[in-house]
Amino acid sequence: MRFSLATIFLTLLSESTLTVAEGNRRLKKAKEPKQPKQPKQPKEPKQPKQPKGAAPTAPPTSPPTAPPTGPPTEEDPCAGKTTPYSEKFPGPYPLDNSERFLYREGIIDEMPSSLCGREGGKNVILVIGDGMGWEMIRAGAIAKLIVKELEEDFGCDTKVGCPDNAAAKASFSGRTLSDYYTEGKGSGLSFQDLEGYALVTTSTTVLQSQNAGAHYAPASSLLEGSVSSHDNGLSPLAVDECTGRPIDFDPRDYEAEGGNMVLWSDAKGGQYPWDENYFTETPDTSSGFDPEFIMQHATDSASTAGSFATGHKAAVNMMSVTLYEEDVSTIVEDAMMCGKAAGVISSVPMLHATPGAFVVHSNYRKNGPQMQRSMKKINPTYIGGGCASRYQASEEHKDEMREGGVLADMWTLLEQSPSVPAANFYDTIQTKDPDNGDHVMMCFGGDYTESGQSNAPYRGLDSTYSNRHCSAGDVEEDEDGTPIGVNPTTPGELCDHYSPEEVAQLPPMKTHVAEAIKFLGKSDGGFFMMYEQGDIDWAAHANHMDDMLGAMLDIDDSVAEIITWIEANGGWESNALYITADHDHFLTLKPHFPEAVANFLINGESHKITPQNNSGVNPWSVAINAGRHEDDSKSQTEHISDFTTWTEEDIEDVGHFWGTMGSGGNGWGSHSSRPVPLSYMGDDGCIEEVMGKGYHVLGKPVVGAEGKVDQVHVHACMMKNLFNL
Ligand SMILES: [Zn+2]
Repeated sequence: MRFSLATIFLTLLSESTLTVAEGNRRLKKAKEPKQPKQPKQPKEPKQPKQPKGAAPTAPPTSPPTAPPTGPPTEEDPCAGKTTPYSEKFPGPYPLDNSERFLYREGIIDEMPSSLCGREGGKNVILVIGDGMGWEMIRAGAIAKLIVKELEEDFGCDTKVGCPDNAAAKASFSGRTLSDYYTEGKGSGLSFQDLEGYALVTTSTTVLQSQNAGAHYAPASSLLEGSVSSHDNGLSPLAVDECTGRPIDFDPRDYEAEGGNMVLWSDAKGGQYPWDENYFTETPDTSSGFDPEFIMQHATDSASTAGSFATGHKAAVNMMSVTLYEEDVSTIVEDAMMCGKAAGVISSVPMLHATPGAFVVHSNYRKNGPQMQRSMKKINPTYIGGGCASRYQASEEHKDEMREGGVLADMWTLLEQSPSVPAANFYDTIQTKDPDNGDHVMMCFGGDYTESGQSNAPYRGLDSTYSNRHCSAGDVEEDEDGTPIGVNPTTPGELCDHYSPEEVAQLPPMKTHVAEAIKFLGKSDGGFFMMYEQGDIDWAAHANHMDDMLGAMLDIDDSVAEIITWIEANGGWESNALYITADHDHFLTLKPHFPEAVANFLINGESHKITPQNNSGVNPWSVAINAGRHEDDSKSQTEHISDFTTWTEEDIEDVGHFWGTMGSGGNGWGSHSSRPVPLSYMGDDGCIEEVMGKGYHVLGKPVVGAEGKVDQVHVHACMMKNLFNL
């Protein structure tokens, strides 16, 4: 299929003793040598544009002797790569940052001598719905409106059903997506009322070698080996198999031009997430549209959260370091350096990828000890979320916060406990104030519970925190151990995520968020806060619509709390709010989705919006384990459909499916590279100014996406508003 680049690895030169480029220390503080007022930037040679109508699966071939501009081919993986990028397009390539980007683009008039001490900065609040692409938002908006209508107009109780089922059903009979919205910003959720709306690209990098099946972009930096093989920076520079020299990062598109970036293509993926080609069995592919395009080289939450947190791109699994695995300061550190309060709160573990990237520098998102050391050093004003596994403060660190510990004067540790009812959970921080040097850590889940869950309790569409299908499945193998199918084993009886007693110990997500902003908001110097609803992503990975809709209701309620706080605390003159996603998931609603949701709710069995046949097993991962990605006789979609467990009837019943059309109802379970929405307010025109702009990665120019912004631009606008640049 599309995987043209052979994954041959030369034996990496063991004598390569080069260490991480010393010259890449880039603390963005006030240390930059004064930039002479010179031509903004040496003009980069025009990048050859991918022809609009190019067939998506056939990169143009170029003979080895051709000028080094074409992408590599299967026959010649080094085509166009024997001359390093920097020789083709000579630098200089100083490491960029958001201040330089804003200055270069003429959005600010001068390079700030310091971020600190400037009057007029705003509080900046970033909300990340993990995996919350356009279709996830639409599903949440419609579900919320249906619940409201059933309660208000038909006296229904979504936990048990309606007094008059027939009347309610008649009202929703024939209700389709067109009765809500089929394009654009939409309405229904709290953040859809904000004035600003844009689409954000989630581009990432492919270095060293692409992943099997091109499923996700690889977790490889410019240092040798996978990032999981070593701590930050502790590996030699990776060597380019074509040049025999350290990889010279190429900022052009991987598929189209043989570069190292995974860039967005409107031709292949549609100009908008609501492109009609995603909703038909006969997509118009004449202009290059390919429904599988968004399944290639998907990014992850670590690298994307790092882009929001620092304005720098890194590879999958990397958190707030450059591609050379060097720390770059996060907006939390910058804010605190300037006397502001700053912190994160999440519905998933506090050092999981998204919140972690704001308070940690780690080349690998699962390197617990490294992340724990880094978080302790950054010492955020506030950090809250699940305390499970390696994704939390170390036990030693928590002990130091407890009574008698060396950090007890500075930190208040809030821990889920049977002896503290939800209503009193936040009592001890009411008198705390960041301006007195107080810091807060809030912990739930994990070892604090019998159930041992890592994320906040799943609320479900009926808001019961109970009654859900616990999707399960077994991979079926032949006698050689090769996967040949998946069998769903989801039990008929429903299960609880947390026990009712555990749920009673915890305030709802919106209260966690409201308390965090109340505390941070006491800072006279202003604050930065990132709130993540991380389990939208977890539910989407599991193809679990019921869990996902509950998480969407949580983010909706929590943003409503934030907006209420903003309106009572200086309004949009003093606050900037951004709500977006780190990446998309591949969900498609069928036209009758609203009627399907309504009927389950009316019957008092809203959990059935996730079919019992759901397996919770990732079909494409199983297919890759079966070696299917090397078998060209079928498309990816056809291979995946061999491992899905929903029936056609299931898809019809629930009015939606995950993955490409034809791959089965639970046919993907992974991120996609489709751009995601951004709703914002109080931004004072910055997002509009950066629209369509390019940006630099390791100082080299990356082409922007027309009519869209990238995640690094969101960082730039947050910095501009936080520090009044
Ligand atoms: Zn995910």
